[in-house]
Amino acid sequence: MSDSALPPHDPAAERLMQLIFTLRSNGVTDARVLAAMERVDRGAFVRGVFATRAYEDMPLPISCGQTISQPSVVGQMTQALNPQPRDKVLEVGTGSGYQAAILSLLCRRVYTVDRHRALVDEARAVFSALSLVNITAFAADGSFGLPDQAPFDRILVTAAAEDPPGPLLAQLKIGGIMVVPVGQSDTVQTLIKVTRLASGYDYEELRPVRFVPLVEGLGTE
Ligand code: SAH
Repeated sequence: MSDSALPPHDPAAERLMQLIFTLRSNGVTDARVLAAMERVDRGAFVRGVFATRAYEDMPLPISCGQTISQPSVVGQMTQALNPQPRDKVLEVGTGSGYQAAILSLLCRRVYTVDRHRALVDEARAVFSALSLVNITAFAADGSFGLPDQAPFDRILVTAAAEDPPGPLLAQLKIGGIMVVPVGQSDTVQTLIKVTRLASGYDYEELRPVRFVPLVEGLGTE
């Protein structure tokens, strides 16, 4: 076979394939989640000196002193949330927008909120560049949820609360699922999955995690 018959060498595609392989070996096995993570280029959500590390399975710094989560944690959280194609989802903690972009490929409508307006503005620009038209991003304190759009089929919280916030529990549909890291911000937290039943809430512990804290009020940036 001559060289010209080989597919062109594409380092970006190779790094993405390597990342997908790492996700699989870290327990992300849901085919829809893996396909969505293959389609969303994490490089579009990381800026500056860290952009070259976008395809590594590690959290990275973003603006406003926040972090874009580790891809395997994003995959595991998305898998635990089990989003369905007709779902309306709320994400608390837009950050870079990467998690919201993945959710947007898996469900009908995504609302995402962050307390830092600068992050919301940056994420909106990426959503529009990638033509992700079913995401609405707002600057808001997500601990109160989004009463105007409630109830939600799924709620994903990507900042750690000491307990699942009451307003978020109340804005979950019956049969709905919320995934949220709980615990003190300076220690290892526990990722939990809350399912709303007709008679109350079921809580399942998933794994230890480390997230930035859920902070009250809007940020100054
Ligand atoms: N999901 C993001 C990572 C989130 S980092 C991603 O895919 O990149 C956690 C984010 O939660 C930070 O951007 C922080 O500003 C935000 N946050 C913290 N407390 C909040 C609150 N009360 N309401 C909304 N966002 C909050």
